[in-house]
Amino acid sequence: MGEFEPYLLALADLFYPQRCVGCGGRSRDVLCRGCFERLPRISGPVCDRCGAPSAHETPVCERCRGVDYAFERARSALVYEGVGREVVRALKYQACLEVAERLAAPLLEELAEGRFDMVVPVPLHRSRLRRRGFNQSWVIARALGRRINTPASDKLVVVRRTRDQVDLSGRARWANVRGAFGVRGSVRGKVLLVDDVFTTGATLSACSSALLEAGAERVCALSLCRALH
Ligand SMILES: [Zn+2]
Ligand SMILES: [Zn+2]
Repeated sequence: MGEFEPYLLALADLFYPQRCVGCGGRSRDVLCRGCFERLPRISGPVCDRCGAPSAHETPVCERCRGVDYAFERARSALVYEGVGREVVRALKYQACLEVAERLAAPLLEELAEGRFDMVVPVPLHRSRLRRRGFNQSWVIARALGRRINTPASDKLVVVRRTRDQVDLSGRARWANVRGAFGVRGSVRGKVLLVDDVFTTGATLSACSSALLEAGAERVCALSLCRALH
């Protein structure tokens, strides 16, 4: 069997030319079937306001009670754990375009209720954009926009450099992003704001404030993942 192994592997490459972004195994798609089935999907009842999973449908939940979000409502497709976390990692560091088109956009399309006038991604600061080469939220927004026939527009810009939210606690995150975003030109109508991960909602809320100030009628937020810790 040993001597055939290279041959079999070459054959497998032909049929399954990619690596699953969840487990690294060979796969026909960005995720293998096992990882696809393990996607931590948010499919049950959620809080109507922040989109967190909830025991039953509720207009506001324990997590968001007393929090002043500028967006009207937020929804997320996956919990930020397990395969969900690997998918976000892949969006940032390896196969962004493919993961956005084949996985993130179809998952988010299911959550985009109603009609919107534009899809707008959460922006990256110039220096971070230079380092990474692309903004993963922009790639998701563009792929989603194509699916729902709505133009994607990078209307939002970072006007004040912020610290990495990962290093900060809940309250500090809100202070860190307050007033950090601005809008190029003006905005009209209903905006679908897109990000990869909703953690405290502070970034999405600060972006929503900027869009509303620039003339947006309503802002709804979609994120691929929702962190629940
Ligand atoms: Zn896999
Ligand atoms: Zn809530």
